[in-house]
Amino acid sequence: ENLTKHFATSKSLLPGSGRSVKAVDGVSFTVRKGETLAIVGESGCGKSTLARLVLRLIDPTGGTVRFHGQDIAAIPERSMRPLRARMQMIFQDPFASLNPRMTVAEILTEPMQVHKLGTRAQRRERMIELLELVGLTARHADRYPHEFSGGQRQRIGIARALAAGPELVIGDEPVSALDVSVQAQVINLLEDLKQRLGLTLVIISHDLAVVRHMSDRVGVMYLGKMVELADTQALFSSPRHPYTRALMSAVPLPDPEARPDRQLLEGDVPSPLNPPSGCRFHTRCPYVRDRCRTEEPVMGANDDDHGVACHFWREIDALPRPAAAAAR
Ligand code: SF4
Ligand code: MG
Repeated sequence: ENLTKHFATSKSLLPGSGRSVKAVDGVSFTVRKGETLAIVGESGCGKSTLARLVLRLIDPTGGTVRFHGQDIAAIPERSMRPLRARMQMIFQDPFASLNPRMTVAEILTEPMQVHKLGTRAQRRERMIELLELVGLTARHADRYPHEFSGGQRQRIGIARALAAGPELVIGDEPVSALDVSVQAQVINLLEDLKQRLGLTLVIISHDLAVVRHMSDRVGVMYLGKMVELADTQALFSSPRHPYTRALMSAVPLPDPEARPDRQLLEGDVPSPLNPPSGCRFHTRCPYVRDRCRTEEPVMGANDDDHGVACHFWREIDALPRPAAAAAR
């Protein structure tokens, strides 16, 4: 609820020059048990920061995160451990996130040791189970990360995230470091694990094809704000926010002629150090009006069915929509 994360820049440590990067700026949403929620946006929009805030890997500047009703931002760090076992992260880069000096067996049993789960023999047994769960075998247990392919390493990363038996798993670009040919296998694995283990998934991604395939709902972020939140089907068939519409029409299609109303985003994403006033998208929005420059549009807290932060979405909605989503 109303999550905010401002990072101080080095200059702002000097008196009187208070500059901060508003990486996440007043974002509210709910993750429903058992769903896959995707958070999508261009790089730098704050989606990875949002993921870290939700797991409290970093502390928010403002706002609250409730897990089963409990405000986890208010829990002292030392009391977080039992909760951490229930909320885990899969990182983007399976090369950087696995310790090269640990065997797979050590990598997978470490979370169980940290959370004081089982005896040594039980942990070993569970470790083999985890390997099999992600499509590897006991043969792989005593090898080191460098002996595996990228896809296999991400399977190990996934097994590690599952080791302590989490309910909520957040994947931060879980397949974007992988070869395209391997991406589908890892996506299928995640979906299969979600079903078998009854997980709740949050997938952070810039890839609309991944998002569309995997998620039940999608939140779209732009410059630290969530600008639209809807069921995947509704978002792709009837995107409401001009930014979402532009994102979708930027996806390459084989036949550009089929999309006469293609909208391309002009200009760069403005700096989060000095975001535009009013609606943050106003510097790039094809529908911008005076009100957009001064008054910030907000998504209502109860707009969970199809929320949009745009003053004029109803009028824009009446205009011809990008063909991309409708055509596919
Ligand atoms: Fe565009 Fe204005 Fe809507 Fe922002 S509020 S998305 S600038 S029309
Ligand atoms: Mg990121």
